[in-house]
Amino acid sequence: MQTFDVLVLGAGAAGLMCAAQVGRGSRARGWRVGLLDHSDKLAEKIRISGGGRCNFTNRVVTEHNFVSANPCFARAALSAYTPDDFISLVKSHRIPYHEKHKGQLFCDRSSEDIIEMLASECRDGGVHWLKPHAVQQVQHSDGLFRLDSTAGPLTARHLVIATGGLPVPKIGATDFGLRVAKQFGHALVDQRPALVPLTFDAAQWGGLTELAGVTLPVRSRGSEAQAPWFDEDLLFTHRGLSGPAILQASSYWNPGEPLVLNLSGGHYTADAFTAHLLAQAQGSKAQADNWLAAQLPHWPRRLLQHWLSAPDVGLWAQRKAAELGKKQLGPLAASVAAWVVRPSGTEGYKKAEVMRGGVSTADLQPKTLESRRVSGLYFIGEVVDVTGWLGGYNFQWAWASGVAAARGILSK
Ligand code: FAD
Repeated sequence: MQTFDVLVLGAGAAGLMCAAQVGRGSRARGWRVGLLDHSDKLAEKIRISGGGRCNFTNRVVTEHNFVSANPCFARAALSAYTPDDFISLVKSHRIPYHEKHKGQLFCDRSSEDIIEMLASECRDGGVHWLKPHAVQQVQHSDGLFRLDSTAGPLTARHLVIATGGLPVPKIGATDFGLRVAKQFGHALVDQRPALVPLTFDAAQWGGLTELAGVTLPVRSRGSEAQAPWFDEDLLFTHRGLSGPAILQASSYWNPGEPLVLNLSGGHYTADAFTAHLLAQAQGSKAQADNWLAAQLPHWPRRLLQHWLSAPDVGLWAQRKAAELGKKQLGPLAASVAAWVVRPSGTEGYKKAEVMRGGVSTADLQPKTLESRRVSGLYFIGEVVDVTGWLGGYNFQWAWASGVAAARGILSK
C-alpha cells in the first residue's frame, strides 16, 4: 500500500503544473505527492502542440476566450494565475520564446523545453512518479481516496483528476476523468470535438476539391448565438475546410447548422460589399473578370477561377465592369461577403485539438476546482467544461486550473 497526501492522475499540462506546485508548496510539511500516468512518456500533448513548439500561452487571456456552459466560471482561476505568471516561470528556466500572431507565445526551440521545465519543477517538489500505471478503481470513504492500480493499492487525502479530454486517443487520451466524475455524481456537459477541421458530403463539396491547398484570410463565425467573429486564415482541404478560421468557428458550430465565412477581405456585410463593388465598377473599362481580380487582391488565382466558373457569373465575366449592376454584383457580393456553408461533420477526435464540454462547472468551486460533492476531489484542465480558443488559451487554462487546485489543497 502506498500512501499519499495528494495524488494527481494524469501527467499532462495541468497535472504536471498542479503536482509541481503542491510538491514545492508542501515541502516544509513533508507531504507525499504522487503523479500517475498510464503513459511512460510525459505530456505527449505538450510535445506535439504548436507544431512542436508549444504555443504555451497568450499575452492576454480572459474568460471571454473560452466556451463553457458557465461563461464566467474560468475567471477566478485565470485571474489568480495569469499569462505573466507563466511567462515568469518560463523566463526563470531561461527558455527562449517568441510572439507570433495575436499574442501567441511559442518556444524558439521545441515543446520539450516546457515539458522539461515542468518535470524539473516536479523534481524540485519531490513529486513521486507513478508511470506507466493505470487505475482500475477509485473509492472514497472516511475522508480517504482508495485506488486500485497497476502500482498496487494507493491511498490519498486529496485526489486531483487531470486526465484531459478525448482528442487524439492514439497518444493516450481516455474518458477516465469523465467516468470518475460520473461515479461521484457530477453532471457532464455533452462532449464533442472542437478546434477541428470540418467536412462536407462528397455531393456538396464536389468541385471544391480542386481548391485543396488554397488558403486566404477570412472572417469566420460559428452557428451559435454567442459565436464571435474570428479574423484568421481559411484552408481548403480535400474533404472540406480547415485552417485557424475554421478551427475557431468549429468550437461554436453544431452539426446540421450553417457556418458563415466572409471572404471579402474587409468587414463588409453583403449589402455594404455590393455598394462597394458598384462604386468601384462605375466607369471602369476593365473586363469584369480582370476587374474582379483587382477587387479581391488577397484571393489566390485558383479560388477566383472557381468563383468565376459559377454559371451565373459566366454570363457576365467577359463584359466591361461598368456594365455590371446590382443584378450581377448583388449575388456575387453575397457569395463573397457572406458565404454560407453547411458542413456535414468534423474530422473527429483524431484531428481535434480540444474537447468541448466535460465535467460540468456547476459542482466545482471556481477558485480551487474542488468538487462541491466530494471534499478533497479536484478536476483540472481539459476534462472540465472550459474550452479555449486556438492561440495558447487551452494551456493557460491547464496552468491556471492546476495552480488553483494546488493552492486550494495547500490552504487546507
Ligand atoms: P493532457 O495534456 O491531455 O494530459 C492528460 C494526461 O492524462 C496525459 O498524460 C494522459 O496520458 C493521461 N491519461 C489519460 N487517461 C488516463 C488514464 N486513464 N490513466 C492514467 N493517465 C491517463 N493548446 C494550447 O494552448 N496551445 C497549443 O499550441 C496547442 N496545440 C495542440 C496541438 C494538438 C495537436 C492538440 C491535440 C492539442 C493542442 N492544444 C494546444 C490543446 C492542449 O494540448 C490541451 O488542451 C492540454 O494539453 C490539456 O491539458 P490536460 O493536462 O488537461 O490534458
